[in-house]
Amino acid sequence: MGLSMTRRKLVAGNWKMHGTAAELGEVEAIAAAAQAHSRVDLALCLPATLIERAARAVPGFAIGGQDVHEAGKGAHTGCVSVAMLRDAGAALTIVGHSERRQAQHESDADVKAKAKAALAGGLDVILCIGESLAIREQGQAVAVVDTQLAASLPTSIGQPESFSVAYEPIWAIGTGKVPSAADIAEMHGALRRRLIMTYGDAGRGVRILYGGSVKASNAAEIFAIDDVDGALVGGASLTASDFIPIVEAASQD
Ligand code: PEP
Repeated sequence: MGLSMTRRKLVAGNWKMHGTAAELGEVEAIAAAAQAHSRVDLALCLPATLIERAARAVPGFAIGGQDVHEAGKGAHTGCVSVAMLRDAGAALTIVGHSERRQAQHESDADVKAKAKAALAGGLDVILCIGESLAIREQGQAVAVVDTQLAASLPTSIGQPESFSVAYEPIWAIGTGKVPSAADIAEMHGALRRRLIMTYGDAGRGVRILYGGSVKASNAAEIFAIDDVDGALVGGASLTASDFIPIVEAASQD
């Protein structure tokens, strides 16, 4: 059986700058639902301030960060290192989210360095890529995102299941707009080819998530697309009542 047959779906929530201790009950409810959906891997990427409390509240459930610094330590005000995330109980981190690429001017080289440091330090990684609306409208989406992925990928990844790529069209994030199934399939197919070109057979084991306005009403259709191995979910991950139906759709696929 090839690695492509063994990819479990991963549904990861990205809480962005939302959530204080008052929302830990949502983390607990989502973690409880995970036990009923053991065919699917789940994770919640939380604000740094919540990671330790969440990890203590739901032992065994994957809690992650939303970014990490590539350096081990040093004069980097406001940043967190891989060791700090691990110390707080995180099992994974997002790198290269478009909001950070835009607002913090993170380059592909920065993202690559973060992914390399995170994997080397024992964190799983979700590496985000995606095109702007202007690029999509110019018909350049696949070429641009493929180039972005090639420049952001770490040289080696170890276990393929520790590393995921999230295709997130910037124009679909938080807007309610979603690409057509054909456009998602075309993009994920191109990204799969890039992963195999880079990592050989291990590239078949890397999960490619779709992200951008995933919700209960569109999740089943998105999960049915070839090479969609799960989702990175923003707004609809903030409450168990919005997130669990997405997990259910993944577990039925
Ligand atoms: C995201 O920011 O990663 C995201 C996918 O957001 P949303 O689901 O809210 O579009």
